[in-house]
Amino acid sequence: MAASLQLSGRVALVTGGGSGIGRAVCELFARNGASVVAADINLEGAKTTVQKLEASSELPSGPQSHHAFALDVSDKVAVRSLVKNVTELYKQPASVLVNSAGITMDKMMVKMDEDKFDKVIDVNLKGTFLVTQAVSQAMIAHKTTDGSIINFASIVGKHGNVGQCNYAASKAGVVAFTKTTAKELARYGVRCNAILPGFIQTPMTAVMPEHLYNVIKEFIPLKREGQPSEVAEVCLFLASNRSSYMTGAEVEVSGGLEI
Ligand code: NAP
Repeated sequence: MAASLQLSGRVALVTGGGSGIGRAVCELFARNGASVVAADINLEGAKTTVQKLEASSELPSGPQSHHAFALDVSDKVAVRSLVKNVTELYKQPASVLVNSAGITMDKMMVKMDEDKFDKVIDVNLKGTFLVTQAVSQAMIAHKTTDGSIINFASIVGKHGNVGQCNYAASKAGVVAFTKTTAKELARYGVRCNAILPGFIQTPMTAVMPEHLYNVIKEFIPLKREGQPSEVAEVCLFLASNRSSYMTGAEVEVSGGLEI
């Protein structure tokens, strides 16, 4: 049974794995045979994710093992230490990396505080770089030939959004970073793609006022918000060898928003 699963024998590192889309990715990857490392600044969230994976495991205990780690993706020392720990733990580095950790700190551009701008860039863009660099170095050293890196950008990075100049800029940067990484890592057999979600029901969007939530839904051709599990399905495709000829792609998962 395990041999037919899409991520059998793979180790997957998921940042932001303690909440929302990252948690749904962990759940789907585990059901598809991966050993999952959920890393999050919110350690309790990451631990809850791993408990869910263990509780819902459809497999006999077998070769899979899941772990939760505290991680601030914008802290280079912490990132390098985590990647070293994961490599020692599994005797191989992660061959799948999902950069899902992200934050918003909204304000109109003319009133945006410098520290809020810097913080969002630090987590969303620099964090994606730091984790990708450390994992890529480990993949190259280990001669991984089926590596897959998936970065979370946003539809907002493509079209902009009122009140989100910091977030939109960070996500546009993630797309450019993804394409460059794809070009540089192709020679090692490592692919790198970006997912651009639209409006997904997670704690990140739960803070929006209800009237705004309803207005946005009217602009979505499918007339509803997306679920984290629907984004996770695309992530699984990009992680597995089923997408073996895709690298440097921007994949929109938005219910048609902004088409
Ligand atoms: P979420 O539910 O808020 O999950 C993000 C997770 O990342 C949270 O557990 C958060 O912890 C964690 N995190 C924050 N800062 C971190 C750091 N410095 N290091 C490590 N972890 C950190 O958000 P989501 O909706 O699942 O979003 C996942 C990704 O998709 C993000 O990159 C987001 O920008 C992107 N995205 C989401 C949507 C959407 O509609 N939901 C749309 C487009 C793009 P705390 O909760 O403690 O902050």
